[in-house]
Amino acid sequence: MAVTILQPPVNADTLAQFRAEGKSRLRGSRWIGRKITAGRGGLAMGGGDGQKQRAMVQIRLPQPLSFAQQVAIFSRLAEANPTPQTELEFTNPFTLVVAVALSAQATDVGVNKATKGLFAVADTPRKMLDLGLEGVTEHIRTIGLYRQKAKNVMALSRILVEDYGGEVPDSRAALTGLPGVGRKTANVVLNTAFHFPAQAVDTHIFRVGNRTRVAPGRDVDEVERAIEDNVPARFQQNAHHWLILHGRYICQARRPRCAVCPIYDLCPYEEKTA
Ligand code: SF4
Repeated sequence: MAVTILQPPVNADTLAQFRAEGKSRLRGSRWIGRKITAGRGGLAMGGGDGQKQRAMVQIRLPQPLSFAQQVAIFSRLAEANPTPQTELEFTNPFTLVVAVALSAQATDVGVNKATKGLFAVADTPRKMLDLGLEGVTEHIRTIGLYRQKAKNVMALSRILVEDYGGEVPDSRAALTGLPGVGRKTANVVLNTAFHFPAQAVDTHIFRVGNRTRVAPGRDVDEVERAIEDNVPARFQQNAHHWLILHGRYICQARRPRCAVCPIYDLCPYEEKTA
């Protein structure tokens, strides 16, 4: 059995090459856009050409950068953007919870357009309940999955009123108990509203963490742990926003803008574009 070692993020070209070689079936993995994630044991690929070829593809993590390299990279990001902020518009912890919950599979720009009118009339859980499901739905109908999201906003508002006195709890367990609020949303709220150094790993942070090796990981949980373990404490609070903004505007998925990247000389990614 052939054994091939890949390092994340594994891209579509690599997989296309495997398929062209007759290894057409991919098990134990799932696609996220053009990337895949894999179980801890790696990916098993097999089949093809009727010859019962089999190959084991292991996803081996590279070593994270050294302490000194981490300091150098985050100092550079901090210099370029000393006070990184979320691009979602909000006025208090409650509107942040709602905005982040609405942002799943939607752009921040699209969410901001919808919440501008919504938050003008309902910026507390009580006001949201008073607005009602139809009112909420009307405000957010330009956002994907708006019907389910409107129901979640109503349900989480009711829980906040009935169980938390109308306040947003500053605990991950309590937050993830709200409808439509997963670990990623909870971490954004803990980080941005309560200034707790929680790391919410999305597709941008997953990609940047692996390319730069500040936080290598085969899935979002591993990248979250890698940030907590390896990024120096002084940068933890802002790491989430530095990495997400870097991924959104510079280290983009299909073609990273390496020529204008402030950490070009510090980045170990082998497929830099310039
Ligand atoms: S040099 Fe290129 S690959 Fe490395 S972080 Fe910058 S944009 Fe991303």
